[in-house]
Amino acid sequence: MAANSEDKTTQTSTENIREIPGVNFIRAQIRLDNDRGTYDGRVCTRFPPEPNGYLHLGHTKSVCLNFGVAAEFGGQCNLRFDDTNPTREETEYVDSIREDVRWLGGDWQDREFYASDYFEQLYAHAEELIKMGKAYVDDLSADDIRKYRGTLTEPGRESPWRDRGVEENLGLFRRMRAGEFPDGTRVLRAKIDMAASNLVMRDPTLYRIRHAGHHRTGNKWCIYPLYDYTHCLSDSLEGITHSLCTLEFVNNKELYDWVLDTLNVYHPRQYEFARLNVTCTILSKRKLIQLVEGGHVNGWNDPRMPTLCGLRRRGVPPGALREFCALVGMARVNSTVEYAMLEFCIREYLNGHTPRFMAVLDPIKVVIENYPEDRVEEFDMPLHPEDDSYGSRKVPFSRELWIERDDFRFVPPKKYYRLTLGSEVRLRYAYFITCREAIVDSDGKVTELRCVYDPQSRSGQSPDGRRVKGTIHWVSAVHANSAEIRLYDQLFTVKNPDNAPGGGTFLDNLNPNSLQTVRGWLEPALAALDPGARVQFERVGYFCKDRDSTPEKPVFNRTVTLRDTWAKMEKKDQNHE
Ligand code: ATP
Ligand code: MG
Repeated sequence: MAANSEDKTTQTSTENIREIPGVNFIRAQIRLDNDRGTYDGRVCTRFPPEPNGYLHLGHTKSVCLNFGVAAEFGGQCNLRFDDTNPTREETEYVDSIREDVRWLGGDWQDREFYASDYFEQLYAHAEELIKMGKAYVDDLSADDIRKYRGTLTEPGRESPWRDRGVEENLGLFRRMRAGEFPDGTRVLRAKIDMAASNLVMRDPTLYRIRHAGHHRTGNKWCIYPLYDYTHCLSDSLEGITHSLCTLEFVNNKELYDWVLDTLNVYHPRQYEFARLNVTCTILSKRKLIQLVEGGHVNGWNDPRMPTLCGLRRRGVPPGALREFCALVGMARVNSTVEYAMLEFCIREYLNGHTPRFMAVLDPIKVVIENYPEDRVEEFDMPLHPEDDSYGSRKVPFSRELWIERDDFRFVPPKKYYRLTLGSEVRLRYAYFITCREAIVDSDGKVTELRCVYDPQSRSGQSPDGRRVKGTIHWVSAVHANSAEIRLYDQLFTVKNPDNAPGGGTFLDNLNPNSLQTVRGWLEPALAALDPGARVQFERVGYFCKDRDSTPEKPVFNRTVTLRDTWAKMEKKDQNHE
């Protein structure tokens, strides 16, 4: 996995970390630990998703960070499913997470772990805590526990069950495990401090009763450990060195440390980094699920979804996402990144990694009057204008072509170098043509352009040094394949869908025009591509062949539009002359 670029804007310094310019704080911490021999030079991280939904753009940051630093320091990164919640987790999600992490370039080798693998050990540690007098069974209801907890300004109250003896606690906890009590009637809590200033430390719940089947352990358990208790012990059992999580867990760190210190087991350290937020989208599994279940999109892998499977289907390459994460960096302060920055990374990456083809999405017919009716020529065209290693493809040329409707105007605006009546343009890699006549239907819509070509201008070369400024793309009408083209746009119309100026929820801010489907014409070479192939349609944008494609009906998704392509191309063509 590509290493993240160093973040030069780290503002925080903790007691241990010297500010090292150009080094993000997590790498700085690892170097410090390696220098001191804290873990004998070992680096072991983990990516710990809860299998209750599909991975999204936000998870990319965590995947890139955890796998990235492990790779950089010659360490290892585990994939650990945090599956402590029996009802919400499903095997479908486990499979998708595996696929998505692998797609991003994360390699956990044979280290695929599940928190549920540790249930037996977690249980044994809980009994240990009880025996130490550090945990007790509480009969308060969930509501009462909340009421007793107090607030930031008021200390909590101790539960009347807090001082049960060890034997009584052990007996009750064993009976909880044996299934003798209904859901919600008792919990196991850590006995810490109901007056702690950190609310997390006010006797947090460690276990609760849930008579529910689990996707891996079936009906073996009816008590389930909570996240804070499970996470630190899972890290400890796996020998994690640096446990990297997002900032909302800052307050949980004290509990993380308490559990491991109290049990006196191997103790990884937790470090928090900022969550990735991106404008014009939402990154929360709970909300993404509403888009799917409400039918606002066509499933988790709808190309408009910020899920990894959606981005993949849209044609976003994993390398572009890794570069995006590198660019975002590892700041410790939460911030929101512009969606345009993601698009920039996708465009940059695709520019260097995709072959070029021609496709016309909004066609007008061009008839070249002086080109013989039954003649067909083949032009050899490079698949990439700057990289010969892509090779070339053959493109047929004939008397009737499709060109883009927007490439003809009766009344050309300033600096419009495309086709107008009487003007000459270059057909990309083919010939110069001059428009003689435009045929218009009763609505005033152009249906056909009658043109002539200069046979001397073969392969788009000027025969006599005469300058032709504009170059347009085209496809031969008899050879073209018709295709369904899905033009995707932002799923939301506002920068912050959750908190838009007009109010409402994110569902009120959906873009009604986020998908527009058109029928386009493709050059024949595109037929040979497999679904998933990413291409540039010259002057139009980057596209990806969709899995819905059939030989009769290819389907392409627009990944991103091009920016400035028009300007760039004119420059290039002028340089050719
Ligand atoms: P969500 O809010 O979407 O449900 P989550 O944090 O509950 O996300 P988990 O499956 O628990 O999702 O996350 C797995 C890992 O990915 C965690 O370490 C979490 O901190 C990290 N992660 C999740 N969302 C982001 C994000 N937006 N930016 C960076 N890391 C994230
Ligand atoms: Mg979570």
